[in-house]
Amino acid sequence: TATPVRNSTKALQAADARHHLHPFTDHAGLAAKGARVITRAEGVRLWDSEGRSMIDGMSGLWCVNVGYGRAELAEVAKQQLLELPYYNTFFQTTHPPVVALSEKLASIAPAGMDLVTYAGSGSEANDTIAKLVRYFWNLQGKPRKKTIISRNYAYHGVTMQAASMSGLTAMHPQFDLPLPGVVHVEAPYWYAHGGDLGPDEFGLKAARAVEKKILELGPENVGAFIGEPIQGAGGVIIPPATYWPEIMRICRQYDVLVIADEVICGFGRTGKWFGSQTFGIQPDFMTMAKGLTSGYIPMAGIMMGGRVAETFRNAGEEIVHGFTYSGHPVAAAVALRNLEIMEEEGLVDAAGGEIGAYFQAKLRAALSDHRLVGEVRGVGMIAAMELVEHKPSHAFFDPKRGVGTLCRNHCFANGLVMRACRDVMVLAPPLSITKPEIDELVGLAADCIERTA
Ligand code: PLP
Repeated sequence: TATPVRNSTKALQAADARHHLHPFTDHAGLAAKGARVITRAEGVRLWDSEGRSMIDGMSGLWCVNVGYGRAELAEVAKQQLLELPYYNTFFQTTHPPVVALSEKLASIAPAGMDLVTYAGSGSEANDTIAKLVRYFWNLQGKPRKKTIISRNYAYHGVTMQAASMSGLTAMHPQFDLPLPGVVHVEAPYWYAHGGDLGPDEFGLKAARAVEKKILELGPENVGAFIGEPIQGAGGVIIPPATYWPEIMRICRQYDVLVIADEVICGFGRTGKWFGSQTFGIQPDFMTMAKGLTSGYIPMAGIMMGGRVAETFRNAGEEIVHGFTYSGHPVAAAVALRNLEIMEEEGLVDAAGGEIGAYFQAKLRAALSDHRLVGEVRGVGMIAAMELVEHKPSHAFFDPKRGVGTLCRNHCFANGLVMRACRDVMVLAPPLSITKPEIDELVGLAADCIERTA
């Protein structure tokens, strides 16, 4: 029998509540009110099943960098599905889309990074890197050099290792995490933890927390440091300018590998192809996902360079790791076309130039002086507003009040997707957004913040 077409919102919500367990959601709470049914998207706009539209200030989950409705991406997917919908790259085979994509990624990556392997999601990619760190040090004859240092407020995904490396504490207790072999240090979160220090001084202090941890554990036991160039889901934490250069010095001094998790920062978000290029990071590994395909189809990549790439190229034995969907041909074809669109339309340059500057200036003009907004911060096409109870002292609201959630809900009901990380309101719109759309977005955001408290 044919599947019945459920086109009424209520019927969809009821079936959803009965059969679909949503990620990062209180199931009973959602079931009681019914999920909003999103049915269509174009450019920077979404529509729901009741015909209401919203500006998507989050590019989905920080991923739809080229915006919605790109027929070219559907076309290349269709052609690839007809020509070669699947083949693996395990058994002495390759295929044209994965070769072309790998070559392209090597051409836009930071200098010296020129070897890539693939996964299906950012979490899988970070798990892969954690395994490759172990393997690298085993090949170097340093089998004890395995501990990975991460940071508070980090988000690296939800698989066992990626969740362990994440530093958002709510992610651990339900699952008896973190796994052994991962430790966390303070984040370069000046607004919340800077105290009396200026940003640059605090940036050095936060970086030296990594050095302190390396010395405490013994450099012979520390394999890698992992960090997002800007911590995204932790609340768009922009590190002070001193932070990353000092991290690089420390990791080089103690021979600790550097993993830049570029899942959000990659593909133009910070105004260069990669956040590593914006912040002066020379990573050994980069995690890529989201903007790689603009979220049109799942795909993640692990980029390697220097001695890490050389070691794996010359391992001389089978690397016993890989996913059925590593380098999937349809995903690779979509990713390549997505990167071409970004180039053809100059979206990375726009984020690092006129459009990014316009977005940042408009937000500051509208909200810097607002009584609830302690700080507006951002780079390129990513930004955050700290909602605070007392501006002069940076005093946060009692988390039990859920001020951020309230603000997010006002936005969601009034035509804007803006996310709350605690009481930090975050924005990461498509890089293709226009100036009039930025005006509309900022107007809605300011309106909703005004109504919040
Ligand atoms: N790393 C970062 C920095 C992320 O923001 C995310 C997802 O938001 C991930 C990793 C995990 O990616 P995925 O959800 O594709 O597993």
